Amino acid sequence: MKRCPICGRPVEGLNMCPKCYVERREIFWVEDIVELVRCPRCGFFKLSGRWRELTFEDALADYLTRHIRVIPELEVKGVRITPLSKGEVGKFLVRVEGELEGELVSSEKVVDVRVKSEVCKRCSWEAGGYYEAIVQVRAEGREISEEELEIVRNIITRVLEKERENQKAFISKIVERKEGIDYYFGDRNIGRKISRLIAEELGGKITESKKIHTRRDGRDIYRFTYSVRLPAYRKGDVVEENGRICVVTNQRLGRAIAIDRGDTVNLRNPKVIAKKEDMKESVVVSCDEFVVEVLHPVTHEVVQAKRPKVDLSPGDAVFVVECGEEVYVIPKELI
Ligand SMILES: [Zn+2]
Ligand SMILES: [Zn+2]
Repeated sequence: MKRCPICGRPVEGLNMCPKCYVERREIFWVEDIVELVRCPRCGFFKLSGRWRELTFEDALADYLTRHIRVIPELEVKGVRITPLSKGEVGKFLVRVEGELEGELVSSEKVVDVRVKSEVCKRCSWEAGGYYEAIVQVRAEGREISEEELEIVRNIITRVLEKERENQKAFISKIVERKEGIDYYFGDRNIGRKISRLIAEELGGKITESKKIHTRRDGRDIYRFTYSVRLPAYRKGDVVEENGRICVVTNQRLGRAIAIDRGDTVNLRNPKVIAKKEDMKESVVVSCDEFVVEVLHPVTHEVVQAKRPKVDLSPGDAVFVVECGEEVYVIPKELI
């Protein structure tokens, strides 16, 4: 049986017992000087070529665990890092703990930590106005409402938040135009994703186009435009679809309720007759099975309207819309 030449204890693979080994030999190595790279603009650290959102402590721990080398016989159980001076730069004690041939051992070294500034790709792109995609938000024949803009802003924040470590996940420009808003994004895929989410939440169609921006390494580099056109109608608007008067119930899915029979209609080619906010109120004068008489909201004459499929009694407040020659009564509960 082999014995430790120092203390005489029996040994296995190593030529010394673990205790004597740790006292006389190195069980791990680490650079004396560690240089972390941090972006002065966003505070991200560059680790193994990737920019990451980490605290200084986590960045240092990540760096050291990747760069410490240990002898093959050591099974590392933990690495502890303790600052020996105040602040982020200066000396740190690195303690490696592990098992060596079944015995718990540990060893310590001091490293000198420095932080170097380097502007990350995202920050230099962002500052330079870099973009790959434009998302144009428009509404068919009307202005975009504040409510819709709020939803768009929330979608953008949500997507960018999820892609924090994507170097191209940023907005480089927002341009408000008469016809809508343009958002410029650093990443083409983010632009596409956001345009889809907007159309999913608010309804509407997306058209995609691209333009050659530049050539790089013999390849054409494109810029993409995703134009989202929100529907002309919004929830609560009165539309005409296929000759029937309907109230929009779901803007996103393009659904409405037809006032003549009270059934649900899928909007294919609707024409907006009256916007929710422009609708005029009136009062029911009389009604029978077929006809309702109401006061015309402008002339105040009694006019006949088509009978909607709801219960009405004289004196009920309703909305009145005109389409061609006809007058329609819109029950208030549908708006
Ligand atoms: Zn020994
Ligand atoms: Zn940065």
